[in-house]
Amino acid sequence: METTDHARPVLPPRRLALLHAIRSLPRDRCLPCWVDPELWFSTDPFDKLEAMKDCRVCPVRSECLAAAFEAGETSGIWGGQEFTAHTPERLAS
Ligand code: SF4
Repeated sequence: METTDHARPVLPPRRLALLHAIRSLPRDRCLPCWVDPELWFSTDPFDKLEAMKDCRVCPVRSECLAAAFEAGETSGIWGGQEFTAHTPERLAS
């Protein structure tokens, strides 16, 4: 996995942009998905469960979930929920 100068994994650009949009994102704390970001986009069921479990203790979980809904995310785990291509239409109904 790609890392920065500080050995922090680089998040996928879309995820990074969304996280920056979360107003209460603590700048001085490491969020669970920053440690192993690929887990949050894995197709492996066990990886997905692990990511959902880690989201439960995230300090910005509700903001993350709201931002992902607002952004119309169609993949990945956000705020402890799995987003798929059907998520936006499910929300609209
Ligand atoms: S709730 Fe989950 S996906 Fe959202 S910022 Fe926290 S750890 Fe990452």
